[in-house]
Amino acid sequence: MKYDKKKYAEHLSGMVKFPTVSNVDPDKLPTEEFLKMHKYLEEIYPLVHKHLTREIMGKCGLVFHWKGTGKSDKLPILFCAHQDVVPEGDWNNWKYPPFSGHIDEEGIMWGRGSGDCKMTLMAEMEAVEALLEEGYTPDYDIYMAFGYNEEIMGGPGAACQIIADEFAKRGIRFGLVLDEGGGVANTPNGKVASINVGEKGYADYEFWVEDGGGHAAMPPEHNALGKLGKAMYDLECNPMPLKLVDAVIQMFKAQAPITAGRMGELKADPAANWEELQKICLETRENNQFFRTTTTPTMAQGSAQANILPEKASVITNSRLLPGDTLEELEAHFKAVLPEYVHFRLAKGHNPPSISRTDSDGFKVVSKVVRELHGEDVVIVPGLVAGGTDSRYYCPLSDSVYRFVGGKASSRVGGVHAVNEHIDTEVLDSNVEFFVRIIQTYGE
Ligand SMILES: [Zn+2]
Repeated sequence: MKYDKKKYAEHLSGMVKFPTVSNVDPDKLPTEEFLKMHKYLEEIYPLVHKHLTREIMGKCGLVFHWKGTGKSDKLPILFCAHQDVVPEGDWNNWKYPPFSGHIDEEGIMWGRGSGDCKMTLMAEMEAVEALLEEGYTPDYDIYMAFGYNEEIMGGPGAACQIIADEFAKRGIRFGLVLDEGGGVANTPNGKVASINVGEKGYADYEFWVEDGGGHAAMPPEHNALGKLGKAMYDLECNPMPLKLVDAVIQMFKAQAPITAGRMGELKADPAANWEELQKICLETRENNQFFRTTTTPTMAQGSAQANILPEKASVITNSRLLPGDTLEELEAHFKAVLPEYVHFRLAKGHNPPSISRTDSDGFKVVSKVVRELHGEDVVIVPGLVAGGTDSRYYCPLSDSVYRFVGGKASSRVGGVHAVNEHIDTEVLDSNVEFFVRIIQTYGE
């Protein structure tokens, strides 16, 4: 197989030119930009569009189906990526315009979505196109699904929920699902492949306090905003309890050989070192997130004017739920900590998805390809991703859902969700090769 990184860079640059920014207001989704990008995909991937069936699901979700020969009884594979991107921010702070897909003389490509997540979409499409070019047909079925509202946590009407429901309706289950969320990294202690097997749950809650309002010149001892402020502080002081869950034990054990110092020793046996780990958790945010469900206030509102007492004060919080915890438990915790005059409701959220297996055929295939591409000594970590991914919608359809894309690590990447998002075009070929090898190896 010949890999052409220059061609991949051109194609990716072309995709970045479409400002497919998702919006929490469904009416403001720039559907025409997505449809223009679909047209562009048709131009650059003629074989994919000739040999695979393509369906539009939801407003502009893309689902491709490559029918295999049927010689293998393996369950289908599903490759995921999202078409949408976060807003580009202040154009003045970009080195090159955010939707230029500009490739500089050092081979760096600049643009919103270049890394998150159009590179993955490109790599998956290129892999299938390249195999078709060689006349390859898999013995099992392959699907690709590209949603359009990952960056707003699905918003109202999550594209991948619609797609997953359709798969379920058709009785389709997957032997392997791959999505963004992890990769190979070079650390001072060696190469690490984070084949992420899970993610935390997510929830936005609205909390509010109501009282009489009135003139700010004659305030009560505590008004609605003051009471709510105290309630939020109390919530911070009384978080959900620290807890050691299996997924974290598994992740820490795998990380132990490449973690320096005392932390490395502790990670080797988290259960035996739980007391000491708890102390460290209280001191570092990086570790704390893995040992409890967190809640933090992020937005607040009082009255409309400085000299008016708020009749209603409200706060939005953001929670991340540890695997095993539920929204019901979190709400019971809120009730236990807060006084009755503080009301709350779930604005948006979901329980943590199930943790995928590490003893499945899918995991073995991914690990095998990783070792072939990156060397036998690469340390494989079945971890948890910090954020959320579209892959959670497919967890009910597979016990092998991994947030992992296995191209070569590069230090010349950055700016995800910030200005100056950029990627290294020198490693694009390895991203395509990863998916090619997954397809070939899975069928063996
Ligand atoms: Zn993403």
